[in-house]
Amino acid sequence: MAEEPGVELAKMTSPQAAAALAAAEVAIVPVGATEQHGPNLSLETDTAIADALARRIAAAVFPRAVVTPPLPFGVSHHHLRFPGTLTLSPDTFQAVLLDLAESLRRHGVPRLFVVDGHAGNQGALDVLMTKLRFERGIPAAYLFPFAIAGDAIREGVGSERWGHACEVEASLGLALRPEIVHAESLEAGAILPPLLPFADPRQPHRIAAPLWFDEITANGALGDARRASSGFGESVASTVVARAVAFLERFVELEPGDDRWPEAGPPSAAWGNG
Ligand SMILES: [Zn+2]
Repeated sequence: MAEEPGVELAKMTSPQAAAALAAAEVAIVPVGATEQHGPNLSLETDTAIADALARRIAAAVFPRAVVTPPLPFGVSHHHLRFPGTLTLSPDTFQAVLLDLAESLRRHGVPRLFVVDGHAGNQGALDVLMTKLRFERGIPAAYLFPFAIAGDAIREGVGSERWGHACEVEASLGLALRPEIVHAESLEAGAILPPLLPFADPRQPHRIAAPLWFDEITANGALGDARRASSGFGESVASTVVARAVAFLERFVELEPGDDRWPEAGPPSAAWGNG
């Protein structure tokens, strides 16, 4: 696919950014992770997929959105027992995104749309959305591909399980960033017996209990990434983009507020004269 012009903030000069930011009604921030995906996919997988989807979404609503560089670290404690994983604490992850949101608001873009490539970020993002909208007055939303396209995934997936280093993620990789898929070493997930009753997140009746990922799968993968195809990945990706575009068309009508939760303080205090 040709490089979409005019949406990537980091590629612009400052004068070009001035024009893009003046036209933009929403900033799209891709967030991912640097974490193990077993032998199947690169550590950058979640970041690469989020970045590619965010660019497609921004291009589809051009010039109403700009996309920032991706945040390549997420909340990945549960993968730390596998080599290569790096994590932020949930507090640090939220703090980075709050600072970016305030920077973007200062440039006149008062709405934030996060494209999240990593399931483990969702808890922190849920809290962050509350902080942005109700404490800062910044309309905010986040999209997680496996949730917004869950129906399209269930229709097309062949593996019994999916969600990490799996058929779905490898398919998205083949469609969006083929270099992250390590075709020479693809393995099925080595799923272990459940460690705790009621702790399976796929069950409707469940108890939320954090698990290390090596308590779920011995090789860090779920499902069977050997069944991946770029066609399936493309169909999931286009579902994600179409639904994101439909959402953004209404989302940009949400007006920013001047809410200032007392503890947050006015932005000027944090920013000074710099
Ligand atoms: Zn992943």
